[in-house]
Amino acid sequence: MSARPLLNRRLNGLGTTIFAEMSALATATGSINLGQGFPDTDGPREIAQAAADAVLNGRGNQYPPGPGIPELRTAVAEHQQRCYGLTYDPDSEVLVTAGATEAIAAAMLALLEPGDEVIAFEPFYDSYAACIAMAGATRVPLTLRAPDFRPDLDRLRALVTPRTRLLLLNTPHNPTGMVLTPDELSAIAELACERDLLVVTDEVYEHLVFTGGHHPIAALPGMRDRTVTISSAGKTFSFTGWKVGWATGSPDLIAAVRTAKQYLTYVSAGPFQYAVAEALRLPDSYFTTLRTDLLRKRDLLADGLRAAGFEVYTPQGTYFITTDITPFGEKDAYAFCRTLPERCGVVAIPNSVFYDDPDAGRSQVRFTFCKQDDVLSDATARLRRLGGSAVLTSPGDAG
Ligand SMILES: *Cc1c(COP(=O)(O)O)cnc(C)c1O
Repeated sequence: MSARPLLNRRLNGLGTTIFAEMSALATATGSINLGQGFPDTDGPREIAQAAADAVLNGRGNQYPPGPGIPELRTAVAEHQQRCYGLTYDPDSEVLVTAGATEAIAAAMLALLEPGDEVIAFEPFYDSYAACIAMAGATRVPLTLRAPDFRPDLDRLRALVTPRTRLLLLNTPHNPTGMVLTPDELSAIAELACERDLLVVTDEVYEHLVFTGGHHPIAALPGMRDRTVTISSAGKTFSFTGWKVGWATGSPDLIAAVRTAKQYLTYVSAGPFQYAVAEALRLPDSYFTTLRTDLLRKRDLLADGLRAAGFEVYTPQGTYFITTDITPFGEKDAYAFCRTLPERCGVVAIPNSVFYDDPDAGRSQVRFTFCKQDDVLSDATARLRRLGGSAVLTSPGDAG
């Protein structure tokens, strides 16, 4: 065998996603998994029934149309209109994908040339780095810093070069829970217009905003035709295993993304597309209840984490809380998360792995609160042991 490494240079260093690593650790140790963001209760029963009916009635069991079934594309367009006043043509401006993950990948592969620069917030959602790399482009991080994780807009402006092709946004932002404000979005939109940049915006947490509301950048002047907006059913309807996502944008952008998408999965999740079309038409009360339930869980977990000794950065959106472990005299989030299952039977995610800047997120740990209340209470009770064990096992680490 030649000495040449098997994994190509573009993927070098991407390894196993932290979510797989930490979920495996949760299973192996029987820990409470507050790492990977998936709810422990399924979404609405009638939507699950709609999926089952679709399978049994032979709807979507064979290859659905490449851009997605018309019912779902229409439902996505109606949702964008109803929630944000954005008008999209279901035939030419909506594309159904295998989750938001495929939409992100297809957008990067379709819109980037090798050598192009992509500016994205760090900490990055981990597929961004991989997709930018697979497209042969370069990621340029705009670092979000504790305690409030607001983007530094002067710094953003300074990061734009003649090679910058695209801004990859994520609001509400995973993992920090930061939600871009209308003022921030306007400043970003102005910059995109001035420097003629494309915008790809990942809005999978659009319905999980607790403060200030969600505002799509595509609705701002000059943005509609330079923006690909991505979302998915996973987080909004608590069916993360269905992997039904979508992208909306102008016909030429969507045609470009569809070209790449055709050769990734071609199509996916036929019967689930029918069910998600129904889900998107649920009454406003569904979305309100989702939000108020999660707000209560956020506060339950935040209080519990504070009581256990963490520094807590209260999120404005998403179902994640970022914390800092410095109060325990610890500094290395990855090492902390590796030993957390042994120490108290809880799994969390080190934010440090989502930063290029090794110092920026070194002591940050993310917990999810999309779990049943008693699971959250049990987890924080377990974490309360940590104060003691941190002092007992690592007295020298405090400095
Ligand atoms: C969960 C998540 C995704 C992936 O969504 P799927 O629809 O499951 O592919 C994309 N972006 C962010 C920020 C996420 O948290």
